[in-house]
Amino acid sequence: MGRAFVHVILGGGVAAGYAALEFARRGGYSRGELCIISEETVAPYERPALSKGYLLPEGAARLPGFHTCVGANDELLTAKWYKDNGIELVLGTKVIAADVRRKTLLTGTGETISYKNLIIATGARALKLEEFGINGSDASNICYLRNLDDADKLVNVMKSCPGGNAVVIGGGYIGMECAAALVTNRIKVTIVFPENHCKSLRYSAELSHSHYKNLIVAYLFSAVARLFTPKIAEYYENYYSSKGVTFIKGTVLTSFEKEAETGKVFVEVTSVILKDGKHLPADMVVVGIGIRASTSLFEGQLLMEQGGIKINGQMLTSDASVYAVGDVAAFPIKLFDGVIRRLEHVDSARRTARHAVAAILEPSKTKDIDYMPFFYSRVFTLSWQFYGNNTGDVVHFGDFTSSSPRFGAYWVDKGRIRGAFLEGGSREEYEAISNVVRRKAKVTNIAELENQGLMFAIQE
Ligand code: FAD
Ligand code: NDP
Repeated sequence: MGRAFVHVILGGGVAAGYAALEFARRGGYSRGELCIISEETVAPYERPALSKGYLLPEGAARLPGFHTCVGANDELLTAKWYKDNGIELVLGTKVIAADVRRKTLLTGTGETISYKNLIIATGARALKLEEFGINGSDASNICYLRNLDDADKLVNVMKSCPGGNAVVIGGGYIGMECAAALVTNRIKVTIVFPENHCKSLRYSAELSHSHYKNLIVAYLFSAVARLFTPKIAEYYENYYSSKGVTFIKGTVLTSFEKEAETGKVFVEVTSVILKDGKHLPADMVVVGIGIRASTSLFEGQLLMEQGGIKINGQMLTSDASVYAVGDVAAFPIKLFDGVIRRLEHVDSARRTARHAVAAILEPSKTKDIDYMPFFYSRVFTLSWQFYGNNTGDVVHFGDFTSSSPRFGAYWVDKGRIRGAFLEGGSREEYEAISNVVRRKAKVTNIAELENQGLMFAIQE
């Protein structure tokens, strides 16, 4: 049993949706020549909504409202859109094996799907506590957050314990965004993470998770790659504290206390036990301890780098018929002199997806991608954006004391701006900081830059 397509997009997440729109816009296929194969049962959606709008107590975002590509203020691609555009959605279907030489994929239902061009957009999976030797992830009140099912579980668990206690494990993106959502849902939050402050927002993903082997080494190793400086982290931590959130830093959990200890089935966690023996009461637990890129189908067949699939500036892997995009792809960043990075952010997923389609359909006209890394987050009424690279000396600016803040930082290396962070900016201000990073604006005097702050970017 089998089907043949000219173009196959493997994975049905953010990158898949943007790739589909690019194919449709460029008209580079005939009806029935392009398909998306996805383990998920719905058409591609904007994953960032799951930790933001989806968790709101009122007026929460629900599908079809956040299918791709609304996150980029573009068309809403519902299942009907794919049908109208002759793109086959093969949903609820896991690919269990790939043969790059034969150009075939084997699905869990036993179907072989062959392709001429393959775009790998398999994204990533959430790391589980079990991978660090801690059991209990199957408890009914422990939540991870990667897909719609996880988000539904999180919503249901939140609703089951109004006014209760949540323990959030991890001070990264999921931890900080979910903590804010829990507070908004009137749940008391304690965040536990191994570092000294929540600068643990990850820049990219090449670090090992060795907290349980050697906490001190892990701290020293990871500190260089963190996006938040201690000063920036302190602002957010104080803000969260003002909302009633408790931080427990520099430690990790070791186990859970469970309900029905005498019973046979592990039902519910009632408290989280930390390395120092402390017990934290928990009506629910949210775990955000990082991800692993979903590369396993292609290991031994394609070149890998940075925990992902190595691609060139055309999004092409080490096989001439296979492209990779989004969280799974490690690609050269021209702006950083060709350093290879694997980025776990939505803007990169969107742009690499579009670029792969351009490279497939118009290879001679498509230059190597020239991508400037861009990350953002929104929690409570706060909102920040970051552009570029966090290397070099940090120069902070702005007001770090207000509850409606406007502050930021530049990263300066060899007399040039390499990265810029801004909290509370306007559209024009974000554009201004992105421009100075893109142009690697020259800095002659650090003290002057500190004085000028945001004006440096606006006036440049
Ligand atoms: P994904 O969107 O993860 O899609 C991968 C797809 O592949 C999934 O549909 C999966 O089911 C499918 N798949 C995997 N393996 C198989 C297989 N073997 N067979 C079939 N299908 C398979 N980034 C930001 O920049 N800003 C944000 O605010 C932000 N918020 C986020 C909030 C949450 C809750 C999460 C989880 C992520 C967030 N991100 C954010 C990160 C961003 O969503 C990802 O970078 C982006 O989704 C990556 O897109 P992707 O298409 O590569 O992977
Ligand atoms: P992150 O990598 O951002 O953060 C993981 C956090 O968990 C860090 O604080 C890390 O500490 C900590 N940690 C790691 N291992 C352990 C452990 N064994 N025990 C306790 N804590 C541990 O991953 P997230 O899970 O927060 O996010 C998952 C993905 O979702 C990422 O790709 C992220 O980019 C994406 N995302 C992006 C958002 C955005 O861009 N706004 C929003 C939500 C998700 P340490 O730093 O010391 O390793």
